Amino acid sequence: MNAHGIGMTSERTRHRMIDRLRVRGIGDERVLMAMTQVPRHLFVDEALAHRAYEDDSLPIKFGQTISQPFVVARMTEEVIKHNHPVKVLELGTGSGYQAAVLAQLIDQVFSIERIDKLTRIARRRFIKLGYRNIRCKTGDGFKGWATEALFDIIICTAAPEKVPYKLLDQLEVGGKMILPVGDKKQQKLIAIVKEEHGCHEEMLGEVFFVPLLEGVVR
Ligand code: SAH
Repeated sequence: MNAHGIGMTSERTRHRMIDRLRVRGIGDERVLMAMTQVPRHLFVDEALAHRAYEDDSLPIKFGQTISQPFVVARMTEEVIKHNHPVKVLELGTGSGYQAAVLAQLIDQVFSIERIDKLTRIARRRFIKLGYRNIRCKTGDGFKGWATEALFDIIICTAAPEKVPYKLLDQLEVGGKMILPVGDKKQQKLIAIVKEEHGCHEEMLGEVFFVPLLEGVVR
């Protein structure tokens, strides 16, 4: 098949993915539109590109995964439910797919990845695909990105065993942290809204993510 043929197929299969997300209950058209625009097949290894529009997480390099489209959609819905967030921090860049979806909807996306080689691959991808409003760096997500704080939203795409409440220091009052919490056996997706004094938490459902680990891999 020539390159043009592959392009046509992926556009058609991408639309089918969007239809399935709608059926599964993703109702925010802005999110569906953003996911229509991002070519997920360019965020996975070529050998897996033909599976890029199935609703599955897929392996990327270094034992990590690109998140399942349904979970990306759910988390993105949760991000933009907030009154017009302009500055979002993602922990766990991975392939860069979630960041690219956010970049369709948010002015400034910051993303941190602990495995330096993944950061480099994702950065090259962002440049190639023209996502100029994403900044990424290698770092330990548990520390956040202090020099760019405060954020409207912090979204975590790897699961810590306990909520890293310290990160709330980098959120605006009224801002929200969206994250999976738990171990290999059980994880819950939660949203924590920072209030003037304290915070409140909302449970969003069961999920499965790779663990959020401390330290950086160079
Ligand atoms: N958002 C990604 C999902 C990648 S999986 C995507 O759309 O493809 C989660 C990623 O989190 C992995 O790449 C893993 O290396 C990274 N990660 C784990 N612990 C981390 C930490 N403390 N700080 C930053 N990234 C971390």
